[in-house]
Amino acid sequence: MLTKINKIQAKSVLTKSGLPGSDYVVNPYNGCQFACMYCYAAQIARWKHPGEEWGSFLDVKLNAPELLKAELEKLEKKFKSKNFGTIFFSSVTDPYTGMEAKYQLTRKCLEVLADFGYEGEISVQTKSGLITKDINVFKRLKKVLVGFTVTTLDDKVSRFLEVEAPPVSVRIEAIKKLNENGISTYAFIGPVLPYFIKSKNKINKLLDELQKAGVKEVWFEHIHLNSAVKARLFNYLKSENLKILEEFERSDNAEYREDLEKVIYECLEGRKLKLGLGKILYHKDLSKKKI
Ligand code: SF4
Repeated sequence: MLTKINKIQAKSVLTKSGLPGSDYVVNPYNGCQFACMYCYAAQIARWKHPGEEWGSFLDVKLNAPELLKAELEKLEKKFKSKNFGTIFFSSVTDPYTGMEAKYQLTRKCLEVLADFGYEGEISVQTKSGLITKDINVFKRLKKVLVGFTVTTLDDKVSRFLEVEAPPVSVRIEAIKKLNENGISTYAFIGPVLPYFIKSKNKINKLLDELQKAGVKEVWFEHIHLNSAVKARLFNYLKSENLKILEEFERSDNAEYREDLEKVIYECLEGRKLKLGLGKILYHKDLSKKKI
């Protein structure tokens, strides 16, 4: 898909976060070239682009590094500290889409945080191996955690649903490289894909590969099937494969989620894996369970 690039001067780049596990978010871009079919950011980012297809636009905030510097200085005065909690990259884009190779805005924002001497955690989540270009900047940050979204081990499945994102095999290689360089990584298994990854066998294989790549922490998240996600995703599945569509439709209830969580917890048992915090699992009894 061709992406229309809009170079803009933004009004802000660091905003309060409503996401679990983070206090602020940095979005150097708005929109995402990866065009995942299950993306819930699509509805948040698209209000500035009514009628435009998700994946077909990317706002490039050319002034993001300068803005971030000014916003950090303002917050430092307010909190009298260089730590205002966890800063997360990003909520309405992937910080390492192809255009990052050209504009380097994520890199420059990370450099601003390093120069500022930010003392809180910086958390960066991506689907792109491009992130490894910034290992030298990560090494300059005081606390950094890098997350990779990995929803399957099958490149064909990632191409089918994460249409323009780098294949999962590339992501696994990038996880290895980051761990070899001493950067802590986690895997975000979200959404746990109905039809493709529900079985114990598949979840176990996925966890095995992630652990081999050096991952010590995993996050799980159910698929968010709100009306906007459903409209886009179900239309796509309807045109591609009705069997898959039916399984996705079946996944939209508490019983399905509870069954899936039981399978996930069985797979986690005995592994030396930390289960990440957040909204990940909904079943109250299971989410209190110790692994
Ligand atoms: S990479 Fe993330 S932000 Fe980009 S389309 Fe996929 S889910 Fe959405």
